[in-house]
Amino acid sequence: MDKKDYKVYTLLGDGEMPEGSNWEAALTAAHYKLDNLCAIVDKNSLQITAATADVCNTDPLDEKWKAFGWAVREIDGNDVEVLKSTLQDLPFEAGKPSVVIAHTTKGKGVSYMENVLKWHHGVPSADEYELAIKELDEALLAI
Ligand SMILES: [Mg+2]
Repeated sequence: MDKKDYKVYTLLGDGEMPEGSNWEAALTAAHYKLDNLCAIVDKNSLQITAATADVCNTDPLDEKWKAFGWAVREIDGNDVEVLKSTLQDLPFEAGKPSVVIAHTTKGKGVSYMENVLKWHHGVPSADEYELAIKELDEALLAI
């Protein structure tokens, strides 16, 4: 809104998408044509207590963002190269804020954490931590 020459990024969890404050902000950003604003929704389909669809289904999320005046892209959020190239295309449409709906897997890359709800707020034991670091290091070396 201050006409600065930088972009503003905000990261949202899909479990917080039912909260009205998000939609107030989304509507206002579109009203002011904030095409220097980019929201990234981490759509892992889980939240603290259950699957997001079971707590409060927000699908189709892309249509909701479009209806609020945003330019939308959906990507594989676990693919860092796709995420980087997507963010290089900002704004997706001149005069509109952009949102990336990033489909992700909670705990991606750690065998015992992937799509396991308890790791939303779980604390690994020392052994679990060592295994997680080992698996992530191996994945990094494989790139
Ligand atoms: Mg989530």
